[in-house]
Amino acid sequence: MNKVLQLARPDILTLQPYQHAAWEPSLERLHANEMPWRASEDATTAGLNRYPEPQPAELVAHLAQLYGVAPQNLLVGRGSDEGIDLLVRAFCRAGRDSVLICPPTFGMYKVSARIQGAGLIEVPLLKDNGFALDARSVAAAWQPGVKLVFLCTPNNPTGNLLERRGIESLCEQLADRAIVVVDEAYVEFSERASLVSELPRFANLVILRTLSKAFALAGARCGTLLAHQDIIELLGRVITPYALPTSTIESVLKFTDAAHCAESQRRIQALREERSRLRDYLQRLPLIRRVWPSDANFLLVDCSDADRVLQAAIGSGLIIRDPRSQPGLANSLRISIGTPEQNARLVRGIAAASGQAA
Ligand code: PMP
Repeated sequence: MNKVLQLARPDILTLQPYQHAAWEPSLERLHANEMPWRASEDATTAGLNRYPEPQPAELVAHLAQLYGVAPQNLLVGRGSDEGIDLLVRAFCRAGRDSVLICPPTFGMYKVSARIQGAGLIEVPLLKDNGFALDARSVAAAWQPGVKLVFLCTPNNPTGNLLERRGIESLCEQLADRAIVVVDEAYVEFSERASLVSELPRFANLVILRTLSKAFALAGARCGTLLAHQDIIELLGRVITPYALPTSTIESVLKFTDAAHCAESQRRIQALREERSRLRDYLQRLPLIRRVWPSDANFLLVDCSDADRVLQAAIGSGLIIRDPRSQPGLANSLRISIGTPEQNARLVRGIAAASGQAA
């Protein structure tokens, strides 16, 4: 057995998965207790009266090409959130195993661990070093039972990339000991290449990608987990049988074709320019002490009075994120880059709250 699978819950390894209705498109379906007629005005191609194809082959092939992997290295689900949940459920025994995270970071890693009854080990990012990954301390914090190490790059909510060498060194040091999950939800907004190219080197590397950000498809709920084939097969036993709705499958195929990929590229470029403009404006405002560098589609700002900044945003009809409960972010807020009009309105609102004209 692949050594990495020895990290999985033994009861999942021996689980007899649910036998979903066979996918036999050449035959007419009288085997899934579906209605034989569509709802009136159902405009989908496949028909919403039918269960969708599990791990739809056309979509899997398409996403494999988009992300540069073989189809057997890919599992598609309802957002990266589902990938995180599947990993925690398949690898962590409740009350015994644990997850390692590097705060401040994306909140779902902790929530998924808590839901599963897994322990949590926290190794903070190094704030004095721009929220850099402390790879040495992560390796030192590993103990038996730590099954998953979650790394987010660019990191949410700090916006910085984690150093690639540190991630690769953790994959090496933790081979056979833990899965290193690299969440690349925002990688398209950075200039940095994905770690996908390293998948053949590391059997314990899992990469999470999503269509929710750069592809403007958050409402479609479509995320992809890229990993060694054995991990994909294992998680395929755990994922709900008809995970992706027909409307998602069809809209993702449509909205990630060549024309939409080109549109996404143009918008990423526009967003980067807007990010840099917003950064310049925010930096001049007295209520903003610091704007952290960002490789994502948001900016983390440190404030002299975060409550006033929050209220100023709300007064301008805008809501921004309050991550102050996270370690190291006592005075920080996270601002998603909006349209030029929204960004200008935000800056005017904060400027007015600090008694300044923007
Ligand atoms: N990872 C990170 C770092 C995120 O910020 C988010 C969403 N905010 C997700 C994963 C979840 O994304 P999805 O919409 O694909 O579930």
